[in-house]
Amino acid sequence: MISHRVRQLPPYLLSVLQEKKERLLKQGVDVIDLGIGAPDLPTPGFIVDKLMEELAEPQNFKYSPYKGLREFREAVADFYEQEYGVKLDPDTEVLTLIGSKEGIAHLLPAVIDPGEVVLVPDPGYPVYRTAAYLAGGECVSLPLDQANSYRPQFSKLDKEKLNRAKLMFLNYPSNPTAAVAGLDVFREAVAFAQAHQLAIAHDSAYALVTFGGYQAPSIMQAEGAKEVAVEFGSLSKSFNMTGWRIGYVVGNREIIQALAVIKSNTDTSQFIPIQKAAALALRSDRTVVKENNAIYEARMEEMLSALKEAGIQAAKPRATFFIWAQVPEGFTSAEFATRLLEEAGIVVMPGHAFGPRGEGFFRLSLSVPTERLREAARRIRQLGKEHTGK
Ligand SMILES: *Cc1c(COP(=O)(O)O)cnc(C)c1O
Repeated sequence: MISHRVRQLPPYLLSVLQEKKERLLKQGVDVIDLGIGAPDLPTPGFIVDKLMEELAEPQNFKYSPYKGLREFREAVADFYEQEYGVKLDPDTEVLTLIGSKEGIAHLLPAVIDPGEVVLVPDPGYPVYRTAAYLAGGECVSLPLDQANSYRPQFSKLDKEKLNRAKLMFLNYPSNPTAAVAGLDVFREAVAFAQAHQLAIAHDSAYALVTFGGYQAPSIMQAEGAKEVAVEFGSLSKSFNMTGWRIGYVVGNREIIQALAVIKSNTDTSQFIPIQKAAALALRSDRTVVKENNAIYEARMEEMLSALKEAGIQAAKPRATFFIWAQVPEGFTSAEFATRLLEEAGIVVMPGHAFGPRGEGFFRLSLSVPTERLREAARRIRQLGKEHTGK
């Protein structure tokens, strides 16, 4: 009864880890889950208050316009102008999404035909790969290496594959590597896309989760970006609104129009009160976002020092709530993740879950309450001592 495509799909790795964790919890193990990629902090109160207020208005219970509420699309356009100095037309260059994952998945059938090549960052967010696969596309890794600061290495792409490529995903600040990219990287990517007639989908889910005064650029700031690129944004990670399911896509009108066609035949946008609350969030001064980032940064310092003591190498991130760390010598990513779970009760994501080039690394999430993160750091220090004691 089930399609070949779905049957061939490997299980979403997070759910596999989830099962393993549940089994240990049932056995009474005090598991600390640093595998998840969602904030533990609550949605800021003013956003919740706005939702409650809008819930009292019966006219808000109707269908939203297909493209999303103009109020939300205008808030996105104003956010881009303020934050990046980029002007967007809220009617043709902005589209409301039911979370950016939804938009990313629906972008594929909007842009590619079966058999066409999609370039996906390796290591990268697994949804690009699975969504391309489900749309009948052929995935080709865009290799990212630590030695190159995880910048795309276009010269390593196979010429024949490149000729058949239609779309390229990018993601900075990056999940899982926490790498950031300057505007120069985006300029190079736009020029490359123009030269090879490719569309670019840049995922900026972590654009506002930054530290030490770092400001992540938008690909839309690169000259000519609107000719080839769209950029996905989300309120999930910046405003702790994962369950609310709200995001947006901006940029190239043609691509946005095609995505809107797919979506108008699939869903009818997001619940109006959620869009109104999200518009308010985007228009806020973002004091709470800065406060949350300071919490992640303090946790990050704690964990980085524990990793260092345990002899595990990891670069200090400038954005995201992830640490991308090197697996100690003598282990594969899977072996080390299993060891952390069995000997320290800590769940991490093994690097190969994000693509073959993730092998040799693991991703650790800082989105657990600070005292739990401290406990995890303590266990990692302890594990390091036991290891060197042997
Ligand atoms: C979490 C995440 C998303 C999905 O966010 P939603 O807006 O909640 O769907 C997209 N891209 C990356 C890289 C993420 O980590």
